[in-house]
Amino acid sequence: MSVRAWTLSVEDRQKLIQGAFEAKKGSYSPYSKFPVGAAFLTPDGTIIKGANIENASYGGTICAERTAIVKAASEGIRSFVGLAVVTNVNSAISPCGICRQVIREFCALDMPILLVPGDYPQAPLPEGEQKPGYTEGGVKETTLGELLPDSFGPEHLELPRK
Ligand SMILES: [Zn+2]
Repeated sequence: MSVRAWTLSVEDRQKLIQGAFEAKKGSYSPYSKFPVGAAFLTPDGTIIKGANIENASYGGTICAERTAIVKAASEGIRSFVGLAVVTNVNSAISPCGICRQVIREFCALDMPILLVPGDYPQAPLPEGEQKPGYTEGGVKETTLGELLPDSFGPEHLELPRK
């Protein structure tokens, strides 16, 4: 397991997980029947929630992570210290590629991302059966940098060019 420079307090972790579950209640997912909730934590402790909102014209669908980040950014909140994502699947489900890029716009590469199983908290696995990256309750802890390696971001547009 990689060493993390950035860790969440137990309290912030619980706020994020609870926020993601609350966010999922707002899902509008009649087509996929795959509700998703996302919660971002801001530096001042505010939780910003988002759910996936589908559309009869499927391309108009927006994921939970982007709902949350667009809500926040359009209200002037553009700094985040953690993200939690939960679905109804009883395992860790990761943000899609488009969301990873959108998260990249506003979040540090080492920001913690919690992938929460739908049946959180899961019972601890027996000694010796723990999986790398998985922590309390069956939550997979990762970072944006791990989910989106060698990524393109705003700083690249600042580079000198012809
Ligand atoms: Zn997505």
